[in-house]
Amino acid sequence: MSRPIDSDFPSRIDDALAAMREALGADNVFEAAAVAEKYIDPYHVMEHSDFAPGGAVTPGCVEDVQAVVRIANEFGVPISPISTGKNNAYGGAAPRLAGAIIVDLKRMNQIIEVDEDLAFALVEPGVSYMALDDHLRAGDSRLLVDTADLGWGSVVGNALEHGVGFTPYGDHFGHVCGMEVVLANGEVVRTGMGGVEGTNTWQSFKYGYGPYLDGLFTQSNFGIVTKMGIWLMPKPESFTVFMVAVPEEQDLPALVDTVRDLKQTGIIKNQCTVRHVLFDAATMFTKEDLYGQDGRLDVDAIQNVKAKLRLGHWNLFAGLYGSAEQNAKDLETVRNAVSHIEGAQIYLVEDRPGPDGAVLRSRHKVMSGQPNLNELKLLDWVPNGGHIDVAPILPMQGKDAWRQYTSMNERCKEYGHNYFSSFIFGTREIRHIATFIFDTEDAAERSNVLAMCRQLLADSRADGYGAYRSHLALMDEVGESYSWNDGAQMKLYEALKDAIDPNGILAPGKQGIWPAALRKVSVK
Ligand code: ADP
Repeated sequence: MSRPIDSDFPSRIDDALAAMREALGADNVFEAAAVAEKYIDPYHVMEHSDFAPGGAVTPGCVEDVQAVVRIANEFGVPISPISTGKNNAYGGAAPRLAGAIIVDLKRMNQIIEVDEDLAFALVEPGVSYMALDDHLRAGDSRLLVDTADLGWGSVVGNALEHGVGFTPYGDHFGHVCGMEVVLANGEVVRTGMGGVEGTNTWQSFKYGYGPYLDGLFTQSNFGIVTKMGIWLMPKPESFTVFMVAVPEEQDLPALVDTVRDLKQTGIIKNQCTVRHVLFDAATMFTKEDLYGQDGRLDVDAIQNVKAKLRLGHWNLFAGLYGSAEQNAKDLETVRNAVSHIEGAQIYLVEDRPGPDGAVLRSRHKVMSGQPNLNELKLLDWVPNGGHIDVAPILPMQGKDAWRQYTSMNERCKEYGHNYFSSFIFGTREIRHIATFIFDTEDAAERSNVLAMCRQLLADSRADGYGAYRSHLALMDEVGESYSWNDGAQMKLYEALKDAIDPNGILAPGKQGIWPAALRKVSVK
């Protein structure tokens, strides 16, 4: 592909769209002007034009996707796949490279199979958590789907982005088994056991034979995933959700270490979260409701929020999955474990029936696999609210959580922002999701928040923490932060990119991986 910013780029896009119209039908091909407001970052921190689509196509089957890929190669134009396009806080449906044609897979929304015995589903990219949940409920299934915080996103897109949910199956990519992928050259590959003709094991064993390929198609620009197997969780006999509120800022390390022990001993089985008071407050009330002034909440204002909403400075939300007797026993173990943190309070859903219980009721839903949109309420914190997330990975250690929190909190003060966050507990790691809510209509506020995120990533990197995911605007610097041995990881990704996608048509720049023709060119 020649540089997309060269003079014949617009006419190549027009020619490619015309060829795609021939292949897919006029109803499934859209000019840039028709989709300029559709495939955008709804919480844009830069100008929409920085990540504007060059058009869009809506393929209806694998052969359509192959046709789109072949045409993109023929005309040397970039294309950018999305499943449901709800990757909000990280760029939404917008392409990394302005001018790329969006390949919107929403029409490919078949739930191809649900196997009740083996507990898996095989789905197409357009299947949302809500749709899969509806399907399971309609069939009176014994299985549940682990959902992301917001249930409107797709099973495929979220797993490909290494997203999370909050049941014991919360590591979404960790529960993927078998993919079908249209490669950048138009060929179709099935991973793992899918390589065996006539197999009935595609969704049962991940690794197949030879190198394990699935990871290559996650957070990458090497292929378009058209089918994915996902393991589903058998519903537990009984489910108990609880919240632990610890009163003081400095209780964070003790709470983190206690949760680690409870996870390692199998008492807490799910991807539980420890959240900052303001994060929880914002899922229930606006800043106007709780503070009513401009600027960041100071220490006293945060104390008031804690008292008014019966929240701790930090709040753990976790679930117990087992028999009723086992859960009752495990709850006692949790009570004992947190009792050494002075002032720690445990609440069950029935302990908070009023408005201040909304957050626990909402966490109950996601932890029991009920997709919903409750936490969209966060965006009402400020007028025209949007958010951007900075997401460093930490070892599951209280001292690391404290180091990140104190460092970020100080930086946030410099930029006039409050620190909001969620620590999501995996198996050995914590995903520290620092969330910044801003007024998307205020240009000065947008550039301030972007500058702050850049600084927070640089600070985290200086402390040895890398981010696991990033907004489009920050993909290059996060990619560069994985710099060990002269950027050996990125060199390998680039070598793969050149081999798999020699024309560099697929999602150029995603995760900082640029095709040869655009490497070191200032499209960034
Ligand atoms: P969500 O499920 O949250 O709506 P998106 O559809 O926005 O997710 O996808 C998130 C990102 O994942 C996209 O920007 C794209 O980079 C990648 N992606 C999504 N679907 C596919 C797919 N089917 N094949 C390859 N990459 C995909």
